[in-house]
Amino acid sequence: MSFAISLQCRECGSTYPLEARYSCEFCFGPLEVAYDLEAARSVITRESISNGPRSIWRYGTLLPDPGEEPVDLGAGWTPLRRATRLAEVLGVRELWLKDDTRNPTGSFKDRVVSVALSSARRLGFTTAACASTGNLATSVAAHAAFIGWPSVTLIPSDLEKSKVAMTSIFGGTVLGVDGSYDDVNRLCVELVAEHADWAFANVNLRPYYAEGSKTLAFEIAEQLGWQTPDQVVVPVASGSQLTKIAKGFKEFIELGLVDGGAPVLFGAQATGCSPIATAFSEGAEFITPQRPNTIARSLAIGNPADGPYVLDELRAHGGDCGSVDDDEVLECIGLLARTEGIFAETAGGVTIAALRQMIDRGTIDREKSIVAIISGHGLKTLDAVVDTATVTATIRPSLAAAEDALRFLQLVAAS
Ligand SMILES: *Cc1c(COP(=O)(O)O)cnc(C)c1O
Ligand SMILES: [Zn+2]
Repeated sequence: MSFAISLQCRECGSTYPLEARYSCEFCFGPLEVAYDLEAARSVITRESISNGPRSIWRYGTLLPDPGEEPVDLGAGWTPLRRATRLAEVLGVRELWLKDDTRNPTGSFKDRVVSVALSSARRLGFTTAACASTGNLATSVAAHAAFIGWPSVTLIPSDLEKSKVAMTSIFGGTVLGVDGSYDDVNRLCVELVAEHADWAFANVNLRPYYAEGSKTLAFEIAEQLGWQTPDQVVVPVASGSQLTKIAKGFKEFIELGLVDGGAPVLFGAQATGCSPIATAFSEGAEFITPQRPNTIARSLAIGNPADGPYVLDELRAHGGDCGSVDDDEVLECIGLLARTEGIFAETAGGVTIAALRQMIDRGTIDREKSIVAIISGHGLKTLDAVVDTATVTATIRPSLAAAEDALRFLQLVAAS
């Protein structure tokens, strides 16, 4: 049972039934799902949640109604790991990594797609679609295959080969668009008007899609023992994930399920596509769109839909937004792998590099707890690191050759 009661305009507060609608009739503002938290308060307990499935659907009462059953490939309930070795390198007391590389298609997008397609099925749609920087397309194609739906995913045509392969393998239609993500998104808005039965996860289903990101906040709090962390670092593309993580913590606090207050949220962007970091550091009220040029393709949105709300969130609570170049991204993919055994995609490198930057400039408090979101798996962006791949030595298949090499590398004592 879901406590969702309406769609509500973020700008003027107008409410609408929970139908296929994504912008306000009166002011064109974005809609988001509202809940009857008063009623939920007496029903939802720590115990009722702990007894739920080991997926995002353990929080089903705080997500939009999925209809008869959710479209559930197993997104969520990913590990939250204490990162002592990385914490030592970065000089912080308490660091945790939310390892969302472990989702069914290797990125946090499985959370939002599971919610979006569940709502889409309940609302009578028959085709899954999306505008994507890569990971969303993969997740939509996989979830569509899982329920036997056709999918139409639109991506920039110059996307990494590995991401195209991971999407097309599921058998849907993949349209490469000659242009940036922002061109792809504009095109999808036009397609929505033409195809009434197509559920574009992040366009006409966006209010439902976005709710999936709240589960990151829910899981972090539950996994810390029903305690909110002090600071959370989130990679930012459209900004939906960051704003809904904030909403998730707020709902848990309002429901009295957790100890501690709302964490301070911090954004992470690549300098080659940093419209939000730039607006934040300049104190600008509006976001100036950018033309993306970075290896962090999954974050390459130059005109972020939720940008203004990210700025509001960062400014309201003393947050910050890091901006890191591609060399730092690659370096920090390596740093994370060597210290913690996690292979992250470029977005993960952005998160760790931005975390380090904000620690160094003092906006992130070294003494307070930190959670960093690792949102996608390194196998997705193998192209980015494949040139750095080296074997330590190549040897003949003999014991003598192996021992010689190990002596040369000083891994065994010289005889
Ligand atoms: C999409 C994506 C993000 C950012 O999501 P937004 O909600 O658009 O800000 C972060 N990391 C990865 C790996 C992604 O695919
Ligand atoms: Zn409105």
